[in-house]
Amino acid sequence: MMMGNMELDWQVCSRARLSRDARFDGKFFIGVVTSRVYCRSICPAPTAKEKNVRYYPSAAAAAEAGFRPCLRCRPECSPGTPAWLGTSNTVSRALRLIDESALDDGGIEGLAERLGVGSRHLRRLFLRHLGATPSAVAHTRRLHFAKKLIDETTLPMNEVALASGFGCVRRFNAAIRKVYHRTPTHIRRLVRQKVVQPENQYLFRLRFRSPYDWQGMLAFLAPRATPGVEAVENGVYRRSISLNGSDGYFEVALDQNDSALVARVQFGDPRSLFFITERIRAMFDLNADWVTIVRALRTDPVLVGPVEARRGLRVPGCWNGFELTTRAILGQQVTVKGATVLAGRLVNTFGRRFSAANGLTHLFPEPEVLAKAKLTSIGLPRARAETIQTLARAVSSGELSFDRIVDSEEFLTQLTQISGIGKWTAQYVAMRALREPDAFPSGDLGLLRALNLKNSRDLEQRADAWRPWRAYAAMYLWHTATEHAAHGSRPLSSTKMSLTRSTSQPGVSVAV
Ligand SMILES: [Zn+2]
Repeated sequence: MMMGNMELDWQVCSRARLSRDARFDGKFFIGVVTSRVYCRSICPAPTAKEKNVRYYPSAAAAAEAGFRPCLRCRPECSPGTPAWLGTSNTVSRALRLIDESALDDGGIEGLAERLGVGSRHLRRLFLRHLGATPSAVAHTRRLHFAKKLIDETTLPMNEVALASGFGCVRRFNAAIRKVYHRTPTHIRRLVRQKVVQPENQYLFRLRFRSPYDWQGMLAFLAPRATPGVEAVENGVYRRSISLNGSDGYFEVALDQNDSALVARVQFGDPRSLFFITERIRAMFDLNADWVTIVRALRTDPVLVGPVEARRGLRVPGCWNGFELTTRAILGQQVTVKGATVLAGRLVNTFGRRFSAANGLTHLFPEPEVLAKAKLTSIGLPRARAETIQTLARAVSSGELSFDRIVDSEEFLTQLTQISGIGKWTAQYVAMRALREPDAFPSGDLGLLRALNLKNSRDLEQRADAWRPWRAYAAMYLWHTATEHAAHGSRPLSSTKMSLTRSTSQPGVSVAV
């Protein structure tokens, strides 16, 4: 059943296709020779005969083979490609960069250079794992996003063209007609949009592979929500955002029936929509393949209960790496609640005012501002203030960048050179900002307690069996510890320390 290496097993594909198995949605695509259309595994259209069917490891590969996207199952709506570890790190990294629009500036040569490989080698890797070249993959991503904007928003077509990276309307029209045999306007007429959306507001449905533990996601995010910038209420997460000189916000809720999160984005510049929706996908870990992940975790008896109790648990990502790291530093040596109070003060004192309805009052302060701010004025210990300031200076000078990180190891080494950022903080950043599924803060006191272990070396040994999904194991253990604490059984409260205590004890931290 392993499809991780993308060398497709047609028997598995065939079974998944015939049963319309949603777990395989986005892991392969079906080309139907008779109609020249390609579909998701869940397509509701009548099932084609096996002899008329071809299987492809990516939408781009099906497109390259001359198939058009199906208008019924809409391949552009399938959950993204799961991260495959151990197969090709280069391909996973390249896909991450393409999601951040890396192919727009520099093309395949630029992309290969960033990854430190030759462009020919990169092409070969893509063909082997995805069945399509990097530029075909990027082109399909753009086209799919354009289709989503046509179907799901009322954005004028010239702006759809710009937002999906086509540059001009003529190229956009030509590309859509070539692929769909219809004009963009015709496609939009086919979809009956029920609600009229306010100006600059866009509603997206972002699919995931079921199950998804939305309650678990909110239970983690709610106590950590920075007052004024983020809010969690009535099953909805919302936050303010600032990007390329524009401000806005988004809110996300669950649509269980549709295996999707519904994201409502309020933002003035539609050119940023691709980035925003991709970032939301990453933030809520929508590409994860939970069923595959827990297969490894279930082998440890300590995780069996937690895995059953929280089906579909994800690792929460973040909107902005600098913000998350700042937040992690604020949380050193204090409780989650204490860290949230400090974050609220930081935002209130140094953040830009933002006036949306729904309780969002500020934007998280920019690195340029925190680099010069008097951070001790909010009651922060001097050492912590200096760490944040050093981080802010490094980011605002461009010396350290959370964007387009190619090599996580290298980045984390650079990060830990900042005095006050230890291994725990770095691993926490790797989990949530770099989206490394195997990141693991082995010095975490909560994790040590949950397993009754004394030091990080023992914990690392124990965690070896959970590779390459240790971040998910950490989430499970944190959730369990929080629930135990809430029921008074295994209190984590002994890790509480006063807000002003400044003695540095690396390794003594709880999830911030
Ligand atoms: Zn279809």
